[in-house]
Formats: sequence, C-alpha cells, structure tokens
Amino acid sequence: MSKYDVVIVGGGTAGCAAAYTAGMLGLKTLIIEKNIHLGGTITSGLVIPVMKSGNNQINTQFRDALIDECRKLGGQTTFEDNPAWLNPEITKIALDNLMKRANVAILFDTNILGIKIENDMIKRIRITKEILSAYNEEIEYKEKKLSVSIETRYVIDATGDCVVGKICNCNFLEKDKEFQPVTLRFMMGGIDLKRFSDWLKDYDKDRHVTVVQEIDGYIHLSTAYTWDKDKKWALEPLFKDAVKNGILNKHDTNYFQIFTVPGMPDTVAFNCPRIIDYNNSLDIKSISKALLLARQNIYRYLSFCKKYFPGFENAYISNMADMLGIRVSRRIKGKYIYTIDDLKSGKKFEHPVVISDYPVDIHSNKRKKEGLQKVQDYQLPLESLMSADIENLFVAGRCLSADFLSQGALRVQGSCFSMGEGVAKYIASQRV
Ligand SMILES: Cc1cc2nc3c(=O)[nH]c(=O)nc-3n(C[C@H](O)[C@H](O)[C@H](O)COP(=O)(O)OP(=O)(O)OC[C@H]3O[C@@H](n4cnc5c(N)ncnc54)[C@H](O)[C@@H]3O)c2cc1C
Repeated sequence: MSKYDVVIVGGGTAGCAAAYTAGMLGLKTLIIEKNIHLGGTITSGLVIPVMKSGNNQINTQFRDALIDECRKLGGQTTFEDNPAWLNPEITKIALDNLMKRANVAILFDTNILGIKIENDMIKRIRITKEILSAYNEEIEYKEKKLSVSIETRYVIDATGDCVVGKICNCNFLEKDKEFQPVTLRFMMGGIDLKRFSDWLKDYDKDRHVTVVQEIDGYIHLSTAYTWDKDKKWALEPLFKDAVKNGILNKHDTNYFQIFTVPGMPDTVAFNCPRIIDYNNSLDIKSISKALLLARQNIYRYLSFCKKYFPGFENAYISNMADMLGIRVSRRIKGKYIYTIDDLKSGKKFEHPVVISDYPVDIHSNKRKKEGLQKVQDYQLPLESLMSADIENLFVAGRCLSADFLSQGALRVQGSCFSMGEGVAKYIASQRV
C-alpha cells in the first residue's frame, strides 16, 4: 500500500498551492484529481486573471512561482498593474512543471471510492481502478485491480465542493438559499484585435469601463456591460438594440465581460454567460439546466459580437469551459467559523493564513451589486481550514469554514492560493 504524508484531493487553485508547498517542504505528497489536468477553476473553468488582493498578502510563494513559470512558457502578462494575467492552457503545463519540481505525485482521472476513519482520523483513501502515475514511479501499478488503498497522515480537501468532508459525514455551513449565479466561461478566436480595439477606444471615449494597452507589441484590453447601474456602460445601446432585434434575449444582458488572453493574440475570453435562474450548485438538475442554457447563450453572443463589434467578422467559438464556474457551494464547519464581522472589523488572529483586502463580491440575481465596497486588510485564521469533526482533515479553497458573505470575499484565487500554501506549511511544521 502506498503511504503519504499528505494527500490533496482536488488539484485545482488551492490544491495546487498546497501540493507544491508540501512537496517543496519535503513532505511525501499526492494529488488525486478527477480531471485530466491540474488547475481546476483556472484551467477547466477558464477563470482568469488571479485578482489582486492588496499589498500585504502572505503565503504568496506558489502564486509567484506560477506567474514565473507561465511567463517562461509565454502565457503571462502584466495588465492593469496585475502580473497574474495567465493563459489557462499554458497554466496546465506550468502546473505540471511545478509539481514535477516539487516531486509531487499526481493521479489524474481518479475518483475516491471510500475513506477509512478510525478515532476521528482518516487512515486510508480508496480510489478507482489502475493507477496512472505521472511523475512518481514509486506508486504501485496493479493491473486488473479495480481499487487501490492509500495511507496518509493528513488529507487536504481542495475539491471546491468539499467532497472528502461529505464522504466523511462532516458538518457543513451551507444553507438552502445561499448561492450565487453560476457562469460558463468561453473564448472566441479569429478576432482582429487591432480593428476592435481602435473601434472600442473611440466608442467608449470616456473609458469608464474599458482599458486598452499595448504590451510587448500585443494589444490587451478589457471591457464590460451589466445591467447593474453603478457605472456608465458604453456598450449599453448595442445590447438594447440586440434585444430589440431578437439577437440577444434580456437575460443575456445581465452580465458581459471580455478581456484578452496572454499568448493568444487573436482571442478574447468571456466572463459570461452568468446564469441566474439555476444557481443551486449542489443540485445536479440545476447544474444541468444551467449548462444547457449557457451554451445557447454563448451561441447568441457569437451572433451578437459578429454583428456589433468591428474586428469580430471572422470570430468563432474556440473553447468552452469544461467545468461550470461555481462561486459557492458546500462549506465545511471548521474549528473556527469566519464571519463577515471578522472581515469588516479586520480582526487579527494568532495563525493567519490569508491577509487580503479583496471586497465582498456577491453576484446578485437582482439589478444591483451587493458588495465590492472597499475594505481594510482582513485576516483568515488557519482554524477556518481545519475540520471540526476529523482531526487530520483540512480544507483549502472556496469550501472553507466561512459564512456566506465573507466567503464571497475569500473565494478569489489569490486567497485560495494562500490557504493551500498556509495549510501545507502548518502540516510540514507538525512533522515528527
Ligand atoms: C465565473 C467565476 C469567475 C471568477 N472570477 C475570478 C477572477 O476573475 N479572479 C479570481 O481571482 N477569482 C475568480 N473567481 C473565484 C475563483 O476562481 C474560485 O473561487 C477559485 O478558483 C476556487 O478554487 P478552489 O481551489 O476552491 O476550487 P477549484 O479551483 O475549482 O479546484 C477544485 C478541484 O477539485 C477537483 N475535484 C472536484 N471534485 C473532485 C473529486 N471528487 N475527486 C478529485 N478531484 C475533484 C476539480 O476537478 C478541481 O480541479 C471566479 C469564480 C467564478 C465561478
């Protein structure tokens, strides 16, 4: 039986940070990932960029290593003073490289069949079928065997949905109505960015929501439109006209955001469509309906962009996310339940893992945003990443022990990276 110091279930945003840190600190580390590549929401969900979370962030070594690796591979740029604009495809390769450097073993395409618990401690994890060992030849390869057991001292649940916690019958904080809209991100290729950016600069003359920059000879831009009324949206007349002409429907106009991708000079990434009617991310029927609606919506956006945006005449859908973008789902009950009052008061803790000033970002179903107000630095304690029920189970990422509103601030990638890194450092410090 294979034995590990730490098994990380979910090789996404927080899981990769945890694995890289644990491996670099000399822990025998394994990632179990259900998908066939690392990166989770960043790569499968096409969610970029990593948002800036203030000037006093801690546990940022993994973030910096990822930025460096993507830069070396030609998939990074610094846009709007943020160096974490990453290319999601290149990020997959960069993460492979980082895990290899840290001697982290990875099992792709693997699901958990069961977990053995003794005295409130996880002892073993049983996983599916033969093992696909990417980097660590020590993992046993057992032909014809349908399941394999793995022994571990610690487990980090970085599945976003707290899948390990669910299997272990842990207590959770989520309530029936506490969800945010879901989004299926996508990309369009075949765009003449010079033509489009010249038109856009002229169209959005006061540049309330549009930024265009030339960086290293490439055009980078971002612009947006949403029905929230907090800004002057230059694109509004186009959306109104498209609804009048039946090219878009009203729902399609609730949120629209586009930006360029480093290393893809004819491509634009979309932070939409945002689906507001089916947002129960723990109900498979709701998720399925959202996906069906989202793909129809993406096709309407293609028609819209081709008709209204100069430079999009030859545009095509080049990539649709293979993971629905979920902002919040199951949250574990931890040794400490972080609250919006802790966040607003900037409460200090003995063992902080995150320091951030990223605001509460709740995407509302209504026509207004409840949040994104400036906040001072706040800290997240390690205890919010420790299961209250299982002694050697930690979480990292959006399934942390936090109330709905504070999770709306802590879910951004920079903070998820810090959570993974902070937990791994703590585990390494417990080595006997
Ligand atoms: C539409 C949208 C836009 C966003 N925009 C931004 C943004 O611009 N900037 C920003 O910083 N943040 C943004 N966020 C927030 C941020 O991207 C996420 O909250 C964060 O990436 C979540 O990280 P995570 O590690 O918790 O989960 P993930 O990154 O999703 O990782 C979970 C991993 O677990 C794996 N997994 C799941 N179940 C299992 C299982 N049973 N067994 C094995 N593996 C499993 C998944 O395949 C995945 O790899 C956005 C979120 C959404 C949804």
